[in-house]
Amino acid sequence: MSPGRPRADRCPGALVLHEAADGGLARIRLPGGLVGGGVLAALAALAESFGEHGAVELTSRGNLQLRGVPTSRRAELADQVAELGLLPSATHERVRNIVASPFAGLTGAGVGAGAGSSAGTPPAGGDGVPTAGARLEDLVRGLDEALCADPELAELSGRFLFGLDDGTGDIAALAPDAWAAPAPEGHWWVGPAGVAVDDSGVVGELLAVARAFLRAAGTRDAAGTRGDGSFWRVRDLPDGGAELAAGLRAGRPAAPRPAPRPAAHPVGVWRRPDGGHAAAVHVPLGRLTRPAADLLATVVTATRPGTGQAQASPRGEPPLRITPWRSVVVPCLKDPPSFAARARRTGLVTDPASIWTRVTACAGRPGCASALADVRADAARAVAAGLVAPVALIDGAPADGAPVGGAPADGASVGGVPADGAPADGASVGGVPAGGIRARDMPPAPTGARAHWSGCGRRCGRPPGPHVEIVAGPAGYLVRAAGAEPKES
Ligand code: SF4
Repeated sequence: MSPGRPRADRCPGALVLHEAADGGLARIRLPGGLVGGGVLAALAALAESFGEHGAVELTSRGNLQLRGVPTSRRAELADQVAELGLLPSATHERVRNIVASPFAGLTGAGVGAGAGSSAGTPPAGGDGVPTAGARLEDLVRGLDEALCADPELAELSGRFLFGLDDGTGDIAALAPDAWAAPAPEGHWWVGPAGVAVDDSGVVGELLAVARAFLRAAGTRDAAGTRGDGSFWRVRDLPDGGAELAAGLRAGRPAAPRPAPRPAAHPVGVWRRPDGGHAAAVHVPLGRLTRPAADLLATVVTATRPGTGQAQASPRGEPPLRITPWRSVVVPCLKDPPSFAARARRTGLVTDPASIWTRVTACAGRPGCASALADVRADAARAVAAGLVAPVALIDGAPADGAPVGGAPADGASVGGVPADGAPADGASVGGVPAGGIRARDMPPAPTGARAHWSGCGRRCGRPPGPHVEIVAGPAGYLVRAAGAEPKES
């Protein structure tokens, strides 16, 4: 019997905040990462009013966080979030965890015509690719509404994750608990059951996973008795979810899981398959400032890709897409020639070769009381020196006597990182060059960051899959290869 998690989930929301070292931490769910430009700008203005740490933070699930919320302003925060349309259900606000492929329909890859050919699907326009992106947005909204309409599902943990993949595998790689991807002949493959359903059955099938999980987890047993909530995710179940998947299949034939068709996640401006322009900007360390948010709010057009028509979104404005990789996608761009220069002036990254696209960090000092270092400042210094990670300290021993970055006792910076970052003699420890790691030393990474800085061993916000982790310890930073279960931050 698996012991489950040691305690009930306390994931923050917009109504119940996490008490961080620098004040209240509010997390605002954005199903599918979708947010109107005006809404994002309003949140950035609110965050700025909270003080020196006032920036909107992008999380590893495409949600938003506001830090340093004073106790006296929490009611105001809740009111404003509700007024912006981001709090449709007070009871379900922490469980609206839905990630969706943010480049769907914009790059010519991903969902093909097959996913949009069944009954109940809007007719495809052009080559079907831009319409596929709109279809994924429709599914996100349908899933969100159905989730909020089910009282039982308010008991999910704040960690349970729904995923909608466009066929590229980018969302599947995040290992959602319940997820769907396009399958042949207009169907969708839904996991963990491993069955094929038609377009109209996707939402119901995903919610069935969540309900079955609650029962399997003992959150509420057959007699209606609540459990202790120590199972947060399907993988926490004693058998890893195998019995749950078999039960969900319920005699239906197992469908082959569609092979992902990986696609580039561009940074910068590009031409969409339908001839319009889209853009994606990386947000260093996920901190989106007010000027950057204001810019994003002004550059998005009121035209949905592939239609040439003004978009009729529920909020009356075309949504930006917050990605799980600390970037923002502008699906339809006004004035492409000037965008990149304007974005750079606000601190946004438009160069796909920038080291920033490979580096993430947890909150660290001063925001987190557990932190042993100001990891964001240290990461910024390393990036300025052309590195994604500091000089190595492996298992308590500095690499080849080289200086060790990060002085956790006093929060000092990555002193000793050489400007060129190159190992003097090519020496390395555990594969980490003694002079630090440059971006070109990193393995190829088709999506997301591949070097993650953490202020302590919990490693919040670490990316899924292989990466290099830089973890502050009592004697300095440990730098090592890693690959583990992701955790939102
Ligand atoms: S990894 Fe440690 S220091 Fe960083 S946010 Fe998590 S608990 Fe805090």
